[in-house]
Amino acid sequence: MRDPNCIFCKIVDGKIPAEKLYEDSHALAFLDLEPRAPGHTLIVPKYHAETLETLPEEDAGPLFSAVKKVAKMLMRGLEADGATIGINQGAAAGQVVGHLHVHVLPRYHSDGGGAIQSVVNNKPKESLGEIKSKILKIT
Ligand code: AMP
Ligand code: ZN
Repeated sequence: MRDPNCIFCKIVDGKIPAEKLYEDSHALAFLDLEPRAPGHTLIVPKYHAETLETLPEEDAGPLFSAVKKVAKMLMRGLEADGATIGINQGAAAGQVVGHLHVHVLPRYHSDGGGAIQSVVNNKPKESLGEIKSKILKIT
């Protein structure tokens, strides 16, 4: 399933160009147009889903397998010391393109970047137990 108005669906269909690094029947990886690190790559499912929630179950495993392969390619090819791997899910989390994509950012000891948790510092007022109850709807 593709959305004809979606920029990443257009890349999947070869209608707009991208620097593709990896492709299989379920996923495609290409370099981010505005890289925040050398080799900053996006891995997308070929199925148009805005978020993980709407991604069909059968596409989830293959997407993660592609992330694993691409992260290894980037680490080796660019001699990276590590990688930050993440999804901006929803506008509140910074998602701009409405087609699920996993960012992989090769990391180096000296790159000055932080850990993925440093994107937010919204400390909870409730205890961990209260939060767990809310999530599990225990009263
Ligand atoms: P976000 O939705 O905030 O997770 O990020 C969307 C990402 O897509 C940004 O890092 C953009 O630089 C990248 N991007 C947008 N359009 C293209 C494109 N045509 N080719 C490659 N990367 C793109
Ligand atoms: Zn799409």
